[in-house]
Amino acid sequence: MAEHADQSAQIDRSTDGVEFTYDWYRRFLRRLTAAGYEFCSFGDPLGDRDVVLRHDVDLSLEAAVAMARIEADLGVESTYCVLLSSPLYNPLEGEHRRSLAEIESLGHDVIPHVSTHAYWTEGEVPDAAAIEQRVDEERTVLETVVSPSDAVSFHRPPPWVLDREFDGFRNAYAPKFFSEIGYVADSNQRWRDDPSFVDDLPETLQLLTHPGLWGERDAGFSGRVERAISDACTRAGRATRAEFLDGGSVR
Ligand SMILES: [Zn+2]
Repeated sequence: MAEHADQSAQIDRSTDGVEFTYDWYRRFLRRLTAAGYEFCSFGDPLGDRDVVLRHDVDLSLEAAVAMARIEADLGVESTYCVLLSSPLYNPLEGEHRRSLAEIESLGHDVIPHVSTHAYWTEGEVPDAAAIEQRVDEERTVLETVVSPSDAVSFHRPPPWVLDREFDGFRNAYAPKFFSEIGYVADSNQRWRDDPSFVDDLPETLQLLTHPGLWGERDAGFSGRVERAISDACTRAGRATRAEFLDGGSVR
């Protein structure tokens, strides 16, 4: 263990000071690999120096594709979680279907990112069967595009999905992926305030990023969110004009 720590300390200081850029992400992945970490899926048995790399696609499928290409380039496999209830993208729409198929073809797992908030109001606590049914329905929809594994991540997870196993699917927040190993997430770009994790990663961990928070150039959290909104609107406008106005018509 000490040997691993020495090894990683000698490798590369260029990941000190987190930037939410693809360059930084690339260096970070290289550093993980050089430190002996292996990238696993949710279905693999986990041991020392194993990392389950997961991406919740909350903001941008385009950013997810960019990240998936970087990883494939470096021989890294990860898991992309698709928000079927997203107001920003429709996974069933032609261009987005192709994006998801590309991510899968690059060797990554593409699974549902289920928003319980779409089904239950604050304070409601559904039973396991109801949760499993919704997850199953979303998986069936996603199966019209890709071939997901049996894993699922939850969007803005309520306490009643945390640290819990389900019979019908593999929960990304089950104890063996959450409380029993390290769990490191870039939510709200919090790594800027606490970059120490880069030197001090747990032996076994789940590492979560949100691709929409990353880009070619560094930008803050609210800037990324606003950009994702304007990009989605521009894209929707372009596709809709092409379909109905520029030579198309409503039939
Ligand atoms: Zn989410």
